[in-house]
Formats: sequence, structure tokens, C-alpha cells
Amino acid sequence: MSDIVPPEPDPDARIRLASMILKLRELGISNRRVLAAIETVPREVFVPEQYRGEAYLDRPLPIACGQTISAPSVVAMMTAALEVEDRHHVLEIGTGSGYQAAILAKLARRVTTLERYRTLLESAEARWQELGITNITGVVSDGSKGWPAQAPFDRILVTAAAAAAPAKLVAQLVDGGILIAPVGPADSVQRLTFFRKEGTTVETRDLGAVRFVPLVEGVARNL
Ligand code: SAH
Repeated sequence: MSDIVPPEPDPDARIRLASMILKLRELGISNRRVLAAIETVPREVFVPEQYRGEAYLDRPLPIACGQTISAPSVVAMMTAALEVEDRHHVLEIGTGSGYQAAILAKLARRVTTLERYRTLLESAEARWQELGITNITGVVSDGSKGWPAQAPFDRILVTAAAAAAPAKLVAQLVDGGILIAPVGPADSVQRLTFFRKEGTTVETRDLGAVRFVPLVEGVARNL
């Protein structure tokens, strides 16, 4: 017998998470697998202490190193557009808090995620461990180059804004693979763009306006 009692899930947080799911449905997000994944990942674990109260509102929030965790509706929309299947290996560029990777990990066999700040990656790893998520590999690396050693990937999700269509990354997709990335200038609105590699051609679709922090080349020296 052990006298260690696991912490009770916070009932208020559960209610707020449930109302966030309702809100996502109202916004037209209907993909059941994606909503179910979002329902099992407590977003409050991924936001800084002082923003816990806002974790289940549909808004982006600041995280360490001057970066941002995306709004839940943006995470939901991007995840749905990625059409992730359970046998997939997904590459994410821009780990940030680790929240989007955790959602992908619920849907895919395996997730590899790249982050240029070691501090962010280490905090994200601690959160995945706390939640018992074991199918994510995080790497401190310049994601603008992708991860050729493990390519090709079934899906690639870029969660920082690329100035131009990321051809180097599209090349790391399997045939029929999908990449989603915000494309456009750093300090403005970007276009969320869908790319599907079909043999030697690439189908491209516009998914709407978004605002992301920029994809910066190179690994951060400090932090
Ligand atoms: N997906 C994250 C949010 C990403 S914010 C989440 O769920 O919280 C964008 C992230 O991309 C930041 O953490 C930023 O440091 C990272 N980033 C920017 N340029 C990068 C690059 N070249 N390689 C890897 N990560 C990069």
C-alpha cells in the first residue's frame, strides 16, 4: 500500500476546458478526432503561471523567450487541416510551449519537434513527461532546414512564419504528404498555407489569415 495520493484533477479547469471545446464547435471546428485530442490535453499546463486563469480562453498567450502559444482555435484548425492519421510520423517546427506537439502526439504514432531555444524545449519535455506523453522527440535545432536525417515525414507543421514557401521542408514529405505553414512577412499578417506533395508537383491552398512569430534561422545562442 502506498500513501501517495495522486492530485485530483481541478474541477474548475475541467469545466473551463469543456466550455472551450463548445466554443471551438461554435466556431465551426467539427473534426471529432481533433476535438477529442484537445479535450485530453490540459492547456493550463503549457502556459506561464500568471496566465493559468486564461488558459481556456480562445486567445494566444505569451510564453518564455518572447514567444507565443497559439490560440486554441488556431491549433484546432491547423491540426484538422493536417489530416493526421494514427500511423503517421509528424514533424513540427517550433516546439514553443509543447502544446501543439502534445495534441499531435494524441493523433499520430510519433512526433518529432524542433525548437531553437533550449529553455523552451526543456520546459516542454518536462510537461510531456508530467502528462505521460511518450511519443514525442524534441530536438534543439534550426527547424528551417527540417530534419533530413529522419525524412521523409507523413506530415509537417510549421508553427512560426516563413517568409516564403518552405521548399526545403516540402522536399522532406512523403509522396502525398501534407505541410501546413504560415507564409508571409515577420511583423504582419501571414497566410496559412496548405501544401500537398504529389509526385513532382505541389498542390497549394490558402487557409486564411494568421499571425505567428517569425521563423528565425539558426539555433539561439543563449537560453
Ligand atoms: N507550437 C508552439 C508555438 C510556437 S511559437 C506551441 O504549441 O506552443 C513559434 C516557435 O518557433 C517559437 O518557440 C520559436 O522559438 C520557434 N522557432 C522560430 N524559428 C525557429 C527555427 N528556425 N527552428 C526551430 N524553432 C524555431
